[in-house]
Amino acid sequence: MESQTSTSSRTNWLRKTDTPYVIAGPCSVETEEQTLETCKRVAATGKVDMLRGGIWKPRTSAGNFEGIGVKGLPWMKRAKQETGLPITVEAAKAGHAEMCLEFDVDVIWIGARTSVNPFSVQEVAEALRGSDVPVLVKNPINPDLKLWLGAVERFERVGVKNVGAIHRGFSNLGEKVYRNRPQWQLALDFMKERPDLPMVCDPSHICGRRDLLHDVSQKAVDLSYDGLMIESHRDPDNAWTDAKQQITPEVLGEMITAMKLRLHKEDNADVQNSLSFLRQEISEIDNDILNLLVSRMGVARKIGDYKKKNDITIYQPKRWEEITSSAKQRGSEQGLSEEFIDKFLRAIHDESINQQEQIMK
Ligand code: PEP
Ligand code: MN
Repeated sequence: MESQTSTSSRTNWLRKTDTPYVIAGPCSVETEEQTLETCKRVAATGKVDMLRGGIWKPRTSAGNFEGIGVKGLPWMKRAKQETGLPITVEAAKAGHAEMCLEFDVDVIWIGARTSVNPFSVQEVAEALRGSDVPVLVKNPINPDLKLWLGAVERFERVGVKNVGAIHRGFSNLGEKVYRNRPQWQLALDFMKERPDLPMVCDPSHICGRRDLLHDVSQKAVDLSYDGLMIESHRDPDNAWTDAKQQITPEVLGEMITAMKLRLHKEDNADVQNSLSFLRQEISEIDNDILNLLVSRMGVARKIGDYKKKNDITIYQPKRWEEITSSAKQRGSEQGLSEEFIDKFLRAIHDESINQQEQIMK
């Protein structure tokens, strides 16, 4: 990491002074050899502060590898002893949390499919009552800030002293680029609500593919995140879970070295007030508009297909009149000029006609 002076005044249990706290390791603990080799190679990069390993895997589809289970915990513990690095493991049930405590797991993380469910979160929280293990809570699968904050609060209420958040993106059916749409705004809103807590970015689950990892990690650093959690495997293509998004420890080391640690002029609370915060919001909205346009053109092509089969002309003046007049009215009620609505819809309509023409040819 190209280290430059940081003047950040943000302090919390995870943040380091000038570089993000890096957590890395395999998506899943598979075998003892895979765990130890991966973790040792991860540690050898010298760029990683904590090892991760999934012991119980919350899989979307039944029948997939659901984690090696408790027998993998001694392997993680050995990785900790042999590398000298602390370890983190996901807990989704009380029993998981209890086993983590038994095997000296240093930090417990709560997965996105768990933080979505207050009953599960409460169950894990109860199991940690009175313990001093820190907890990192991933954002829930759906973009619900209150649910995320609420999950964190459940751990605070049982007395967990060090809690933090992991931003791993949000499930979105229309999303084409990312596995989980980042919706940075939501994580920034979290930081605004809770500037006292560390925020870690999980580019692996946001991206779902290797080629985007660097840019997403860099973006998180630019937005003053405190840490990164990145999946790394000794042989990514043959990983039992999340093969496409994992990278070798050596590639991880190079990626972190190549990242630029920008000067943090302000602490996170200030960043949120700055222009970059609003620009981010605009980019997210633009992205949504673009995705919607792509969907709209898909429907237009279907209409083109129908018109072709039924010998109907492409341009239907009456239909166009209906679309523009109702949009102009709704737009002007919301403070948009008729001229703008007119230009905007005309551009969309022209493109729809072009797309339909291609179908009719
Ligand atoms: C994981 O970290 O391997 C994992 C299952 O992540 P998430 O809960 O974000 O899907
Ligand atoms: Mn994973």
